[in-house]
Amino acid sequence: MKHYDYLIVGSGLFGAVAAYLAARKGKTCLVIEKRSQLGGNLYCENMEGINVHMYGPHIFHTSDREVWDFVNSIVPFNRYTNMPVANYKGTLYNLPFNMNTFYQMWGVKTPAEAQAKIEEQKAEAVAKMKADGACEPRNLEEQALILVGRDIYEKLIKGYTEKQWGRPCTELPSFIIRRLPVRFVYDNNYFNDSYQGVPVGGYNLLINGLLKDADTMTGVDFFEDREKWMSVADKVVFTGKIDEWYGYRYGKLEYRTVRFETEVMDMPNYQGTTLVNYTEREVPFTRSIEHKHFEMFGQAVYDCPKTVVTREYSTEWKDGMEPFYPVNDEKNNSLYSQYKALADTEEGVIFGGRLAEYKYYDMAPLVRRALDTQI
Ligand code: UDP
Repeated sequence: MKHYDYLIVGSGLFGAVAAYLAARKGKTCLVIEKRSQLGGNLYCENMEGINVHMYGPHIFHTSDREVWDFVNSIVPFNRYTNMPVANYKGTLYNLPFNMNTFYQMWGVKTPAEAQAKIEEQKAEAVAKMKADGACEPRNLEEQALILVGRDIYEKLIKGYTEKQWGRPCTELPSFIIRRLPVRFVYDNNYFNDSYQGVPVGGYNLLINGLLKDADTMTGVDFFEDREKWMSVADKVVFTGKIDEWYGYRYGKLEYRTVRFETEVMDMPNYQGTTLVNYTEREVPFTRSIEHKHFEMFGQAVYDCPKTVVTREYSTEWKDGMEPFYPVNDEKNNSLYSQYKALADTEEGVIFGGRLAEYKYYDMAPLVRRALDTQI
């Protein structure tokens, strides 16, 4: 077998950007991928002329101009703007939490009225924290109560979050909810970033563009013949699970996984938007995704007579399942830090991505991290 400068284990976004950057420097790369197709969780399948995000909805958003220009240099991105809707027991609310949500929840029409309502509702949580001598919210529940008050917490956060993470909000880290903006303006754009979109023609074009100069192999599990793969290159970029790299010697990290139920429907427009979050506990899935709205706007929605809808069910990860979300609670973070200490002393191996860094990365920070890595 040919000898390479880099072996890249995993063809998701971090691996693909690493391959691109290496090739740009004249280095040779072999990318090996366990699944039967490239692209990690960005992979799309075309059904009925619609690019279906097979591993969950991916919306690229960033304020980092260099990152935005970089991905657009591979494939142009469209102007998709994420504006999800929450469905709580049949009543719809706009997300993220903004003046539209506050109006729907309480009938308040001005920012001052909305702020007063939240102040009133968060008083109890603030008092409890003070009584305990805590200066910062200690968990997701406290954080949510302080940000948006009890009504929104109970209707739009608690059920969704507990379904998504399979743990009570009192045992989850507060940063998860700080991902969501809270705004006192009428603005349903889910993200605060300057740039947002999805690749015109789907994410496979981005992945193929990034991997165009690399050799790639699919259906190959690095761990089935570790020695052989380690010998094919001078250096390794590893994007798999860090605990697996170290033979689980300190124990196994936990993840959440997602089960997708995808349905082709014989109608042009099912829910009128890409994402509807079902925020009550009783509905077993977390959200419903109508893929065509990522790339079809206006009349184009009706020019395509069918639609594809996916429902997402979140469950605890077990061996053999796809790990999606790292569970960044205290127990897992401290286990990760033991593995990280080993990784820091490793020569010739770069660990990158959600699984290798055990981090709830969005796409843009991951690209930034790859751009900043000495490859
Ligand atoms: N979240 C919520 N209600 C919603 C949407 C999100 O409570 O309707 C919380 C939930 O805890 C979730 C977190 O916000 O895990 C982050 O949501 P985001 O949409 O960023 O998650 P992702 O798209 O990465 O799964």
